[in-house]
Order: sequence, then C-alpha cells, then structure tokens
Amino acid sequence: MYTCGPTVYNFAHIGNFRAYVFQDALRRWLKYRGYQVTQVMNLTDVDDKTIRDSRKEGIPLRQFTERYAKAFFDDIATLNIERAEVYPKATEHITEMVELIKKLIQKGFAYKSGDSVYFDVTKFRGYGKLSKVKVEDLMTSVRVKVDSYARGEARDFALWKGWDEDDGDVFWETELGKGRPGWHIECSAMSTKYLGESLDIHSGGVDLIFPHHENEIAQSEAATGKRFAKYWLHCEHLMVNGQKMSKSLGNFYTLRDLLEKGYDPRAIRYILLSTHYRRPLNFTFEELEAAQRTVGRLREFVERLKPTTGGEDGDRKVSQLVRETKGRFEEAMDDDLDVNMALVAVFDFVREMNRLMTGATISEKGVQEARDLMTAFDKILGILGPSGEAAELTKEEKMLIQAREEARRKRDWKTADQIRDELRKLGLELEDTAQGVRWRRTTRQEKS
Ligand SMILES: [Zn+2]
Repeated sequence: MYTCGPTVYNFAHIGNFRAYVFQDALRRWLKYRGYQVTQVMNLTDVDDKTIRDSRKEGIPLRQFTERYAKAFFDDIATLNIERAEVYPKATEHITEMVELIKKLIQKGFAYKSGDSVYFDVTKFRGYGKLSKVKVEDLMTSVRVKVDSYARGEARDFALWKGWDEDDGDVFWETELGKGRPGWHIECSAMSTKYLGESLDIHSGGVDLIFPHHENEIAQSEAATGKRFAKYWLHCEHLMVNGQKMSKSLGNFYTLRDLLEKGYDPRAIRYILLSTHYRRPLNFTFEELEAAQRTVGRLREFVERLKPTTGGEDGDRKVSQLVRETKGRFEEAMDDDLDVNMALVAVFDFVREMNRLMTGATISEKGVQEARDLMTAFDKILGILGPSGEAAELTKEEKMLIQAREEARRKRDWKTADQIRDELRKLGLELEDTAQGVRWRRTTRQEKS
C-alpha cells in the first residue's frame, strides 16, 4: 500500500490528519482480516513549497524540513496512528528518480526543454483515466514547471526542473543537468523501489487526484507498461463549520491547536475516523466535545465490565450478543470501511450489555468475552487504550505526576516545577486546569 505522505514545510492540519487516520484504519482493518500489510508513505522534503519557505526563513532546506518531519512523527504518535513500514524521503532517492526520468526519455514519453525535462501527456494514451481530464483538447503542448496546477488543465509537467535562482543552494548535479526533481516523479520512483512496479492499494486525499495521482499513473505506466495501482482510495475534504478550512477565515487548525485547547487526542482521532472517508467531514467544536464524551463513555464501559449476580443466566446471552455484534462490525468494515455503521454496532452492544449487567448473572467468562470483543474492535478504532502508545502514561510518568500533585498540595512549587521539567524531558507537557491536570505528548516515545 502506498500512501502519499506530508510535504514537510509546516505543521500538518487536521484535514491532512483525516487522510492519515483513514489510512491507518484501512491498514488496521486489512491486518484484522489477515492480510499482510506493507505500507510506504513518502515524505516530500524537496519541492516548490519547502524551498520557498526554507529560503524565507533563511535556513538550509534539510534543517527546515527535519523540523516538520519530526513534528509529523510526533503528531501521528499522538493520534495513535500505526507507523508505516517505510517512510522514504524524496531527497534520499534522487538517483532512482533520475533513472526513471532517463527511461521515460528513452521511451519517448519525456523530452528536454531548456534545462528541464517534461512529461508529454499526449504520448501516454491512458492520461486522464483517473481524474477524467481530457487530453484531446490540447492543440499544442503546454508546459508547466510548477508542481500544482488547476484541475481540468492537462499539461506537460516537469519531471526534472533545471536550476534557477529561486532554488538557491538546492540542486543536484546529475546526468540530467543541474537541478531538482518535480514533485510527482518522487512517488513513482519510491513506490517502485519499495513495492515493485505494481501495487495493490494507493491512497491519498481527493485533492491529490489531479494532477498528482494522474501524473503518477502516467509516469509509472509509461515506464513499465504495467498497471500501476489496482485500487485507489481517496479521502474527502474536511470542512470547519461548513466552510473550507483556511488561514484567512481563522478556522484553520493544526493538531497542536486542538491539543492546546485541551482536547483529548483520542477524541480527535475519533472525530476524524467516525465519518465515512468518502463523505466530507464537517468539523465543529460541539462535535469534538460530543466525541470526547463518547470516547469517555466507551472507556468507562470497559472499566465497568464486572461479573454480576441475580436474575437469569446472562453468559449465554453475552455470547450470542458478542457473536452478533462482531458480525455486524465486520460486515460494516468490509463494506468499504463503513466505520459509521461499525460504531452503531458497538453502541448497540454497550447498551445491551449494560442492560444485561443490571438484570442477569454474568460470570468472569462472560465478562472476558465482552472485554475481548472491545479489545478486538479497538485494534481498529484505537481510542480506548492501552493499545495507544501515545495515549497511555507509563508507570514512571504516573508516579511523577502524582508526586507533583502532592507537592502542589503542599504548596511546594519548586518541587512541582522540577517534576514538570523532568516530565517535559520525557516528552510530556502538563497543563493545570480546573478539572485537574491534563497532559499531552510532545515527542514520540520509542517502543522498547
Ligand atoms: Zn504521491
């Protein structure tokens, strides 16, 4: 499975994370169903935007992109997103890209113009099959050197960009001349390297359909003569209060913005996950608060599962309920990842179990069955913990937080601050609120 990853030039926003959470659910579901998953997600660490913004800040490209790559990995850990098997960086695969471009020139799909190399879209017969753009409208070849351009404009796009002044010190001396790769070629080159010429699943946000994914298909299939991807899965946009998220409207949120407001990462994960991926998601703070309550209720439910006495024999009913619920959940997820319907099955289960626990006798065996079901579901949902490596506190952290609380009660601010600093070094940021102390991860903890 190949998933287009972040362009590391700023903090990813919640719309980006919607796509990453969806892809995470997809990989988790495939694994649940017994598939072996090899996921490759690229990091775009050289393109028009990374160069533009690193130059604006006046720092070397690598230093600039590493900052945001690190932030990306911290953020996906916070959201309990499983790590992909490979995260290749564009700058570390220039050789592979040059080889691919040479092959495209040799086969007549690409041509040099000035110091740059372009893909000739009129030469690739399948161009437009994903996005439905039309090539035949082109009277003559029109070229674009920029990475992004408007939908509906089939253009010869840059595979290799000859150096110009705007690139500053970002260039490679290669057989194609002094320059840098275009954005689209990186995904074709890196997916082939790690997954072969044909891959099973390719996914990304809908905004990538054109030109990015259309161009990936053209590059890869022109070079290999083979079908590039069997299945394309595209995740719809995220809206905020019914509007497009934008900085100028003041409704633009990164994950960090929401954490600073004190929201639980699991609730954020829940809200990003719970709308079907092919439907637009309308993000509101009311919904986020509702998500927070829902996640809390589910966690409480699991904690409350205990043997009960009195009334009819409940174990048999629990078994039956577990079987039915599992069937409903699986059927929903198998149907194009209908998380929404899967969650309905979970809520029905919780309600039914609550009813049984008040009026029936349930033994430890019955309780365990119910618990196992919730654990199995959470392998996909990732909202209950302790599966969330980012969501759970270690024993040491718990003890430190308790010790700090103790110090604060005694008004020993110095010790309290020392402990806070110590936790900060462990990558845990604390915030004291009216409801008590809240915490969030700032750096990812390596699995031991
Ligand atoms: Zn891509």
